[in-house]
Amino acid sequence: MKIQIENLDKIYKNGKRALSDINLEIENGMFGLLGPNGAGKSSLMRILVTLMKPTNGKVNVNGFDLMKDRGEIRKMLGYLPQDFRFFTKLKTWEFLDYAAGLSGIISKKTRSEKVDEWLDKVGLFDVRERSANKLSGGMKRRLGIAQALIGDPKIIVVDEPTTGLDPEERIRFRNILSEISQHDVIIVLSTHIVGDISSICQNLALLNNGNLEFKGSPEELIHKTKGHVWQVNTSGFEYEMLKEKYAIISTIPSEDGWEVQLVGNQLEARDAIEIEPNLEHAYVYFMEYLTNQNGF
Ligand code: ADP
Repeated sequence: MKIQIENLDKIYKNGKRALSDINLEIENGMFGLLGPNGAGKSSLMRILVTLMKPTNGKVNVNGFDLMKDRGEIRKMLGYLPQDFRFFTKLKTWEFLDYAAGLSGIISKKTRSEKVDEWLDKVGLFDVRERSANKLSGGMKRRLGIAQALIGDPKIIVVDEPTTGLDPEERIRFRNILSEISQHDVIIVLSTHIVGDISSICQNLALLNNGNLEFKGSPEELIHKTKGHVWQVNTSGFEYEMLKEKYAIISTIPSEDGWEVQLVGNQLEARDAIEIEPNLEHAYVYFMEYLTNQNGF
């Protein structure tokens, strides 16, 4: 599977430019779209799932043109929007059966097998008779996942998937996606939470203010942050000064002040030690410093 995005722009009717000249290639596996709120992630996803047209540019999905072959592309798609809601009084299993029907599974028997399989996979088998809109928040999210995946889509688009999930649900959700990503599929996952991406995405794109600021693997992004992350034991005036000048990642009370981790270009502080960056450091560094300059 392959998605090719070329020179994509989105300007809304009110003149707001949400995407500027995005060029991106997405291949099999898990692809993370990372960026703060308002970066343009949902806009890009809504274009990918054919719900919205771009202002300029082209998207090609496995040889199909997104603008001309919408029907073909929709057959390959599974989408879990950010604000997935149920407007029906259907029971949990009925809702999934309906979703399976929409995805083109005609045989009642196959549908029923699929519904049971997915109820089991997302841990909703025991509540299958409960009305879907009476499920808890986490359960609704899981039902959302199941409805997106029941038709065996080749391209799976999930927008801010872990919003409102507790840590256990998050892990469960990641594991379901990880398992599916082993097959011949593309999973595009948008988030502003670095932890959603770090453990499972082979590649990522960083969006900020409608611009594509980075594309590559999490390791490449981390590598670019080497030499820019420090740990400092500090207190009093120096601590205040550091807070002004640098992006603080964490502050832990120590014997005589604070143990602070921070990112920056050049550090002016006593007793600073350089530490190995992780993806969170890289993200903060990138957002704080590099978007104000000429990129990497
Ligand atoms: P993200 O998903 O990263 O939070 P969005 O794609 O939702 O970002 O939004 C990108 C920018 O476009 C934001 O400034 C947002 O306010 C604006 N925007 C989103 N949808 C619309 C719309 N329908 N009309 C006008 N502006 C919009």
